[in-house]
Amino acid sequence: MLQFKPHASPTPADTRATLLENPGFGKVFTDHMVTVRWTADRGWHDGQVRAREPFALDPAAAVFHYAQEIFEGMKAYRTASGEVVLFRPDANARRFVSSAERMAMPALPEEVFLAAVEALVRIDADWIPSSEGSLYLRPFMMATEAFLGVRPAQEYVFCVIACPVGAYFKGGAKPVTVWATDEFSRAAPGGTGAAKCGGNYAASLLAQAEAIRNGCDQVVFLDAAQHRFVEELGGMNVFFVMEDGTLVTPPLSGTILPGITRDCVLTLGRESGLDVQERPYSFAEWQADAASGRLREAFACGTAAVIAAIGEVRSPAGAFQISGGVEGPVTGKLRDQLVGIQRGVVADSHGWVRRV
Ligand code: PMP
Repeated sequence: MLQFKPHASPTPADTRATLLENPGFGKVFTDHMVTVRWTADRGWHDGQVRAREPFALDPAAAVFHYAQEIFEGMKAYRTASGEVVLFRPDANARRFVSSAERMAMPALPEEVFLAAVEALVRIDADWIPSSEGSLYLRPFMMATEAFLGVRPAQEYVFCVIACPVGAYFKGGAKPVTVWATDEFSRAAPGGTGAAKCGGNYAASLLAQAEAIRNGCDQVVFLDAAQHRFVEELGGMNVFFVMEDGTLVTPPLSGTILPGITRDCVLTLGRESGLDVQERPYSFAEWQADAASGRLREAFACGTAAVIAAIGEVRSPAGAFQISGGVEGPVTGKLRDQLVGIQRGVVADSHGWVRRV
């Protein structure tokens, strides 16, 4: 299915080594990309592993006008023993299919998604940082048909690009501060909140900018209908650890992204004896539980940051701290377990790790 057309002049090894020293997040890219095209008459075809280069798109391409675009985010790691592994890539492939369905786009067969991701990881394996970092993979699909009518496009391109990344938050595993916006919503019932489509992120940028202006790392969204219940952060799901050993997270009601890290945390939490509850949790409860001490820890989780403690919550009404603003033991244990599985130092009893 995939034709290999390796880069004629890939980045020299010494330049690559310099770039890998401090790659940051999302600004250094590898030499190759994978593309697969879809047309209504031929279906998926023309898969290529080729030099990374700009697209030539018609100015009328539907993605520019009606935002028919979806993406995924996942990582390849180098394990302690030097193997290259992906973490639950099948889950990303499945979520990509659900996102496509919601955006009236053609479903990419899971085996094509996996083959494309693995091919890119293999050909650009030298770009995987050997230390703390990882290779962030960005599969995406966009509507390329040149047509201004408002209907599902008849042509698409699926593409995978990759970038080496270091720590996501400046300051590493330091607890993060979040901004609870009472003005903006991320997703309403019946909307696209559960799909990983670009439009959701465009809609979150102003709220995220407000968070930064208020000295916070991330925005936390409340439900669109009542602005009462906690939903998720701009790019992460959220969990609450209670004094009585319950682990609470908002339910998958259709307005939040079904995070793969969230799913791992639910599994690991259950296995470690926590009483796991997927239930609505209001901002008022969050404030009251933090004040009474019933809430012991809160953390955010996602592919990019894995698990990050939430130390402080700010909102237009004021600020409050959680567990004195330092990372708590449950958060730390879950992160160590998850990172350990990803890095091959904790046994992978769930079959989450896939060798490339
Ligand atoms: N919520 C949002 C809005 C996100 O963008 C992400 C990152 N994909 C997540 C949650 C976490 O999902 P995952 O654990 O699959 O990375």
